[in-house]
Amino acid sequence: MEYVDVIVDISHEKLDRVFQYRVPEALSGKIRIGMQVSFPFGRGNRPMKGYVTGITEEPDYPPEKIKELDGIVEGSVCAESQLIALAAWMREQYGSTMNQALKTVLPVKQEVARQRDVTLRLIISREEAEEQLRKELKKNNRTRARLLAALLDADGTITKREAAERYRITAPVIRGLERDDVLKSETQTRYRNPFEGHFKKRAEVPELSAQQRAAVDGIWADYERGERRTCLLQGVTGSGKTEVYMALIERVIRQGKQAIVLIPEIALTYQTVRRFYERFGARVSVLHSRLSDGERYDQFVRAKEGQLDVMIGPRSALFTPFSDLGMIIIDEEHEGAYKSETVPRYDAREAAIYRASLCGASVVLGSATPSLESSYRAREGVYGWYRLDSRIGTAVLPQVEIIDLREELREGNRGIFSRKLTDALSERLRRGEQAMLFLNRRGFSGFVSCRSCGEALRCPHCDVSLSLHTDGYLKCHYCGYEMRMPKKCPSCGSPYISGFRAGTQQIEREVKRLFPAARVLRMDYDTTRAKESYETILSAFGRGEADVLVGTQMIVKGHDFPNVTLVGVVAADISLHAPDYRAAERTFTLLTQAVGRAGRAEKPGEALIQTYRPEHYSIRAAARQDYDAFYEQELSYRRLMAYPPVQEMLGIYLSCEEQELLKQRAEELGAYIRAQDPALQVIGPAVAALSKKNDIYRMVIYIKYERKERLLEIKRRLECRIKEEPQWDRVRVQFDYNPQQSY
Ligand code: ADP
Ligand code: ZN
Ligand code: ZN
Repeated sequence: MEYVDVIVDISHEKLDRVFQYRVPEALSGKIRIGMQVSFPFGRGNRPMKGYVTGITEEPDYPPEKIKELDGIVEGSVCAESQLIALAAWMREQYGSTMNQALKTVLPVKQEVARQRDVTLRLIISREEAEEQLRKELKKNNRTRARLLAALLDADGTITKREAAERYRITAPVIRGLERDDVLKSETQTRYRNPFEGHFKKRAEVPELSAQQRAAVDGIWADYERGERRTCLLQGVTGSGKTEVYMALIERVIRQGKQAIVLIPEIALTYQTVRRFYERFGARVSVLHSRLSDGERYDQFVRAKEGQLDVMIGPRSALFTPFSDLGMIIIDEEHEGAYKSETVPRYDAREAAIYRASLCGASVVLGSATPSLESSYRAREGVYGWYRLDSRIGTAVLPQVEIIDLREELREGNRGIFSRKLTDALSERLRRGEQAMLFLNRRGFSGFVSCRSCGEALRCPHCDVSLSLHTDGYLKCHYCGYEMRMPKKCPSCGSPYISGFRAGTQQIEREVKRLFPAARVLRMDYDTTRAKESYETILSAFGRGEADVLVGTQMIVKGHDFPNVTLVGVVAADISLHAPDYRAAERTFTLLTQAVGRAGRAEKPGEALIQTYRPEHYSIRAAARQDYDAFYEQELSYRRLMAYPPVQEMLGIYLSCEEQELLKQRAEELGAYIRAQDPALQVIGPAVAALSKKNDIYRMVIYIKYERKERLLEIKRRLECRIKEEPQWDRVRVQFDYNPQQSY
């Protein structure tokens, strides 16, 4: 016997509860998640509609108490049901309640008051209006006359706002003329368009290069054949990926379908939207958290009502309620931002592929430095794979040099900048060119490294960096291994062993100290909290209002500054020593991007990478911009250590206010999982990277296995166990599949 969970029609906002129904014999095997169904509801058995969110053979209630479905609502594969199906899938894959999953995919629930435009329109002929005007003047009705004259001047219609502001017409006067059947006021609702008046549509479209055409034609041929395959478009920055996206979207639109373009950060929205707007006009919009509630709401409505063809935005724009979605583009697909860090911890790339499968859309993943996962799948033939190997135009790759900071130390320089970087900066300032100084703090977690040999202290079991805690112990956040902070470097015996401390503010201060006349801008988390601040800082730098831009990873993404001829990476090791298995990958990606910032126009560029680990493959490969070499090395490391994409990994995050209870539960859970299957590789439990947050203690367990299905099965089993056993009441458990960041 089949049973289904349904939620009542979402417009009633009953998101918090699912109801269970029995599937009638005749419909057995025909129900799918996301379908709209009808059923008797409540005590009065009112006919009601809702969506299927789950299918099971084991009911949660005594079967005799469960009512039967009436039927399937025909023709009901609307955008909402797709999104609900997506939510159900997300709950299953990533672990969350249905409520959490639904809130994620249906983010705008409350209707926000629309903006209204009121227009005043003459409903009598011109001659009659002129006659009326003469009458009003004769009676000395100045205000009425003024309004009539204004209407006559404007061919019969003006907005109410203009009437009020420009002609000082009051509401009673308007009402009077309405009563006399002279004019009518008409109300139109208007959707807020966050880009109204910012951009113009432009006609010119560049002729595609041979490689661009091969990608467009190849992807489109699959599409027309009905084969909805995910494709990886690998091309260095400036190689014309965006033109490929636009050419594909143009074809999608021509078929009457819509497209979603995901970008990793809000900071990139403006420039991306500008290009799409210039190509496709006002049927392009954006969705992101910095829009006002009203603006966001209106973009959803515009999408739902078919007023838009393209939606651009970060992760959550994936949930745009388009009715006939044809393509999802994920630009810079390697970015960690595509992974949600709140429950459900979904991966937007996987969720996009699933959403695409529900509605017959294709997915294109684009990147200069694809994630190991995507590259792996492309090479295995799971994804289509297209490459764009060279930049468009004359821009050439910059001259890159790796600077060995150990050498600097040996020669007595203990400052933040090497002599070479100081010289290069001074030269740029003299020539009136610009420089960017990049400090990659992503993944920073208090690693300890040796300034003589460059080694960071790593876990002997997991080969990830250890983090220094305030109790003086170095800890591994995967397996729980710990050691006392040593006085000397275990590899070379040097006493110059310490945590890394420099931040963007120190760099800014140092530049000002060395070059008092230099104009410096700083861009980091602190300086970009306000709504428009990214753009303000970047456009000021673009206009040449500063000589040096100091910043974190935000400064290296996607922006073109033709006058920047020097990029300095202050300490490449920071990301290399992040305490997780993706540290080398992230370092390679960030360095490649940073290097790519220099010399984007005619002037040749130079990039200097400062590091204590000049021989590390991620740094060497980035300096040569050699993705393939990096991929090979990194994959062999992943293979050796059994990390994704070679194996699949499930993170289990536990948190509790009581440390002892947490530890006990974590140990118990670890033992339970180990007992399930000796083939599972269970790591931990360990104290989390962030061991305590808001007075709540945190621990982690990781499981590795070859197949994802097995891990999902384990997750399901754990979820049941946790739900049933009362001793779990005070311990919160979350799941994270193939984690991007350490918990
Ligand atoms: P990416 O997205 O890979 O960084 P873009 O699509 O932004 O690359 O292309 C880089 C620059 O080259 C843009 O200014 C773009 O307008 C231009 N461009 C791209 N393709 C062509 C082409 N086929 N002919 C001329 N210019 C092009
Ligand atoms: Zn050492
Ligand atoms: Zn370890």
